Amino acid sequence: MQQTRLTLTTDVTVDDTGRFLEVPFHVADDITEIRINITVVPKLSGSCIIDVGLCDSLRVRGWSGSTKYELVIGLDHATSGYVGGDILPGTWKVLLGVYVAGRAGATVRTEITLVEASRQWLQGDLHVHTVHSDGAYTLLQLDEIARDKGLDFIALTDHNTVSQNWAYPRETSVTYIPSMELTTYHGHANLFGVAVPCDDFRVQSSSDVSRLTSEARGRGAKISINHPFDDAGPSCQWRWGYDVSFDWLEVWNGPWRESNAQALSLWQSMLASGKRVIAVGGSDTHREHAYVRHGYPTCYVYSKSRRTGDILEAIGAGLVSMSYRPNGPRLALQAEDALMGGETQGDSFTVSVTNAKALDELVLITEVGEIKRHVVSTPGDLEIAGKHNAGQFLRAELWRYFTEVDKMLIAALSNPIFIKR
Ligand SMILES: [Zn+2]
Repeated sequence: MQQTRLTLTTDVTVDDTGRFLEVPFHVADDITEIRINITVVPKLSGSCIIDVGLCDSLRVRGWSGSTKYELVIGLDHATSGYVGGDILPGTWKVLLGVYVAGRAGATVRTEITLVEASRQWLQGDLHVHTVHSDGAYTLLQLDEIARDKGLDFIALTDHNTVSQNWAYPRETSVTYIPSMELTTYHGHANLFGVAVPCDDFRVQSSSDVSRLTSEARGRGAKISINHPFDDAGPSCQWRWGYDVSFDWLEVWNGPWRESNAQALSLWQSMLASGKRVIAVGGSDTHREHAYVRHGYPTCYVYSKSRRTGDILEAIGAGLVSMSYRPNGPRLALQAEDALMGGETQGDSFTVSVTNAKALDELVLITEVGEIKRHVVSTPGDLEIAGKHNAGQFLRAELWRYFTEVDKMLIAALSNPIFIKR
């Protein structure tokens, strides 16, 4: 994380009493967080009260009087009394309100830290239900679980409702992605990223679905078709076809099982036919369950910031891989200059695996199927480099032996690098 630090000193005199002094500083593009620390040193002993506020390049963003001298303002969080959100480039000003200047004035030291956007791996769950639909967890319980597991983001995908998008906690380390699971009698789709993706969820035909998903996309939503082969209920399988307007395919829903294997092979055939579809996963947790738990699977997203828009942008770009649990094994691919989701004309690649276990099997796959298998010998992080002759795409899977079920299951799954021939 790149940071710029500056310290500015302001001399406050008795004549400044009742005035607002300004401490200007420059904010460049791509700043994701501003931290401000104020220290007031009176020139003589005695009372000296300096109030504090902050202006962005257009308007006052907050005021905390003399109650808070440590301020943070970020894209989706801020100290109470300040408004988080967009950090506009330009001249910002710390406001110093001189309430009581003391007998001889004071020196005010303003330390400013500007945090620049830089891509980082975030982990989260893209499919979660709460009491706002048929889940058992309140949003506060969910927040506690998410923080406990180290999840950075959660998509609130309650069925056919959006009330959760108004009710989630704002002052938390977790980024909540406002979402809705469009739940029809012939399949489910997540609409991510906007509080109100549609005005009415009821659809009766593929053209209704297309109209609704196009409308949601027009409002800024990203769409995933969910658990297309899940037979848990009569309406879970996707029967609206794949010509409808969508962005991503949920190939990994909850614990790895046959319906996920079918979704994976559907995705493989889409990719082999030249369709550049990004795969996502989510736990679909509703209530306490032995295997269906928050973050099982987790999506690792290589995002510019913790902001919803940046997380969704990174997923859309294909900078996402899945892992069977939070802090589980993570796959990333590189081919020449391209990262996952990117495009290359070259024939060399590097796969990196984080948190591997001995005897894990790393499998490389192209449109013709498996092209290489590597058995991990030492646990930890590893990198495998080589050449490929893929014509459409290259992707990776990590398989692991799980004693609970006495078989090899997928432990991590990458998105592809696309090949341009
Ligand atoms: Zn569903």
